[in-house]
This record gives sequence, C-alpha cells and structure tokens, in this order.
Amino acid sequence: MDSNAQVKTDPRRALPSVERLVRELLADYPELPAWALQAAAREALNAARERFSAAGGASEVRLPSPAELTAQVAAGAERIATGHPRRVVNATGIPLHTNLGRAPLAAGAAAAVAEVAAGYSDLELDLTTGRRGDRLAALTAKLMLLTGAEAALAVNNNAAALLLALETLARGREVIVSRGELVEIGGSFRVPEIMERAGVKLVEVGATNRTHAADYERAIGPETALLLKVHRSNFEQTGFVAEVGLAELAEVAGRHALPVLEDLGSGTLVDLSRRGLPAEAFAPARLRLGADLVCFSGDKLLGGPQAGIVLGAADPLLRMRRNPLARALRLDKLSLAALDWTLGCYLDGRAEREIPVLQQILESAPRLEARARALAARLAKVVGEGDRVEVSPDRAFVGGGSLPGFELDTWVVAIRTTVSAESVAARLRQATPAVLARVRDDLVIFDVRTLLDGEEAALEAAVDGIFAAGSP
Ligand SMILES: *Cc1c(COP(=O)(O)O)cnc(C)c1O
Repeated sequence: MDSNAQVKTDPRRALPSVERLVRELLADYPELPAWALQAAAREALNAARERFSAAGGASEVRLPSPAELTAQVAAGAERIATGHPRRVVNATGIPLHTNLGRAPLAAGAAAAVAEVAAGYSDLELDLTTGRRGDRLAALTAKLMLLTGAEAALAVNNNAAALLLALETLARGREVIVSRGELVEIGGSFRVPEIMERAGVKLVEVGATNRTHAADYERAIGPETALLLKVHRSNFEQTGFVAEVGLAELAEVAGRHALPVLEDLGSGTLVDLSRRGLPAEAFAPARLRLGADLVCFSGDKLLGGPQAGIVLGAADPLLRMRRNPLARALRLDKLSLAALDWTLGCYLDGRAEREIPVLQQILESAPRLEARARALAARLAKVVGEGDRVEVSPDRAFVGGGSLPGFELDTWVVAIRTTVSAESVAARLRQATPAVLARVRDDLVIFDVRTLLDGEEAALEAAVDGIFAAGSP
C-alpha cells in the first residue's frame, strides 16, 4: 500500500479546518465573538483528533459529524464568551450564600461604586491641601464613630485581616487557640494554615469538645504573643461541651498582660439581639467584653463588600498598618467606596431599612407569607398541566459562615410537578438570569426572603420559559 493512499483514507482529513468552521459559525451565530469561536473550534478539533489517535484509529471511534461539531463549538464559544460573574436570582432563602457572592450591596453602595469606578477619585489625595491623602482615613473615622473603638483598619477580606494581625503581633512567637476553634471555612480557609503562613507557632489547648480557662493558663509561657479566639462560623457544638467565653479569656490574658484577638467571622454594627439574633455577632460588644482586637468580614452580616475589618486598640492597629504586608492586602477603591457608603448608612440609622442582608434577615413572617402568596398566584398561571403550586411555612439558614444553628422562620412557594424537580431546577439554572431554587422531596422550592426588588418577574419568566416550551 503506498503511503499516499493511507493519508487519503485517514478520516481525520474529513474534519474541517478551524478557519472554515469559524467562517460557517459566524454566519449562523452572529452574536458569538470570533475569538471565542476560534478558541472553541480549535479545542473541539483537537479533542476529536486526540480521541481518534488515542484509540489507534480503531474503527469504532467515530469522528463528530459536521452538525455535532457545529453544536459543540457554538456551545463552547458561548461558555467562553459569557461574562462572569453574572447576575442570578437567589431563591434559596439563604441571604449569605458564599457560592452566590455573599451579601448583595445596597443600591446606594452600588451607585457609589459605579461613580468611583467610571472616573478618577480623590482616593489618596487631600483636596484641601493638595497633598497626598490617606485612603483609609474617612473609613476608619466612620468605623471608630460607629463602634467606639480606639482605632480601626480595613483590608481585602477577613482572612487577610487575620493574617495581618497574626504576622504583625505574633510572628516567630506562640499563639494559643482552643482545639475546638481550629476551624475550616469553605474549604480554602483553615485557621492552622493561616497561622503557619503568618510565621506563628500554634499552641492548641483543651480537647475538641471542651476547653477550660486553666488550659490557657497552663499553656502561657515566655514565648506567648497572644490568645486567639475564633468564632465557629459554620458549625455548632452540642452535648458535653465547654468553651471559655471571651470575658473569661480576657481575664486570663489580662493576668499575663497578653492581648486577645477574636476572629468573629461574621460581625454586625447594630445589636440585633432584641430582634432574636445571637448577641455575639455585634462586633463593638466584643471589645467591651475584653477583646483587644476583633476582625470580621465586610460581606457577611455587615451587608457590605468583600473586606476584612479590624477594630480595637490603637497600638496594635498602628503596627498592623505599618506592616509591609498591609500594602499587599489592602482594600481596592471600589470596595472602599461600597464600604464607606455602607458605614454611612449605619451611622444614619438607615441600615435595617436599606442593607439587603439585614432587611432579609429581619423581614417579618406575615410579610414573607404575603409575598409568597403573591408569587404563588403568578406561578400558578405559568406552570404545566397537572402541576400544583403550594405555599407553606419553612425554615432557612442565614448561611455564609454566619449564625450556625440559627434558623429563620420563612415562607416558601413550591412547585409540585409531574416531571422531576431536579430537572426543573437544572433548567432554571440555564435561564437568563439564572434562578437558584431549593429541591426537596421532589419539590422545586422558592423562598421569597432572598428575592430582591423586581426579581419575582424574572422568576416568573424563567418558570414560564420552562413550562411553555413543553415538558422540561
Ligand atoms: C468567613 C470567615 C473567615 C473568612 O473571611 P473572608 O472575608 O471570607 O476572608 C475567617 N474567619 C471566620 C471565623 C469566618 O467565619
């Protein structure tokens, strides 16, 4: 057999070139950018050739048909070209859903970001003197006014705040933590690993379930730099447990002239205990109970942008600001604009009305029920034949590593459908905007608590889109 004939019969030669595939697709999909089609075409053709070669040209390995190839490239191009992150509708009822970007910003905060983002700003300029200004001066002044703290600081996120605090105050020395507080949050944040990176020697005390003041007392030595308390943000311990409260821990630390740092995780600047929320989330009270420093996230219960806020004594905070690491961990101007607006909202006393996360958590059951009934009436008109729309009370969590074990009484709308609830939920995730629902007992469940203004219409349109097209 001559080699030419062999080349001619190689079925891979029937595959189109990248250029031809892109040219054809551009005509059929004018909305897809050429760069994305090119990348997707190259990938699809390479994959087809590789599959074929890997099988040694075995006859059962079929190359994709022209139609299959076109569909594959169009889908791939759409995936690459689509912006990310995209707006979605959160109908899970979980106000702080880490996978959904945690706290949505208040309208005013979003507007402040847009304003600063699209132009120049006085980020580091004092307009009175014309000299270099301090990017954090206005923010820290607001934080101090709000909390009564001696000093304050904000960095990129709470993990950065903890890293900076430990590196500044305890590098090369020992930090004592209860074994029950060596937490992992969301897979990528582990307290022992952060401590290692901060160059701190971790001294664990107590047992997983019980730690006593005497355990800390015994562990304190000449190398001890500080006592750390970490909030168990995403789990609760029950049963035979004992934890040293902040006040008691501060007493132990005080006897040895050591500082106490508390990683609160999720903190608020309004005391919500009168509304039934755990008192420990109120950050300023942690300082009054004896913490020298407390750090928490900007985008959890506070309801602002991603940020790590530190409140506390002037001297350690000044040292943290002067640490060269602070430059690497600093807050960007967009988050700064959002956080500044959010703090202003707290100072004005408007937070409970204007900060979405607080509104959602504090929303009354009768209002939630009314909203659920209104949504159910809309959905009943668009679901399929034989599908039922039901309204019922339910429970939801706050989420996002906040208030573990604390459940919210809520109201939900459920679609009891003749097709699988999972497949309906999957189709809802493909809608524009995507709608995230809960699935339980083969019901598709929408919790109205986390629907923002006007999102009922998007949800209705997504449900309509599924059932109008026939069985999902
Ligand atoms: C959420 C959380 C963190 C991490 O905060 P980020 O702002 O996501 O960096 C750290 N510690 C605790 C206890 C938390 O709950």
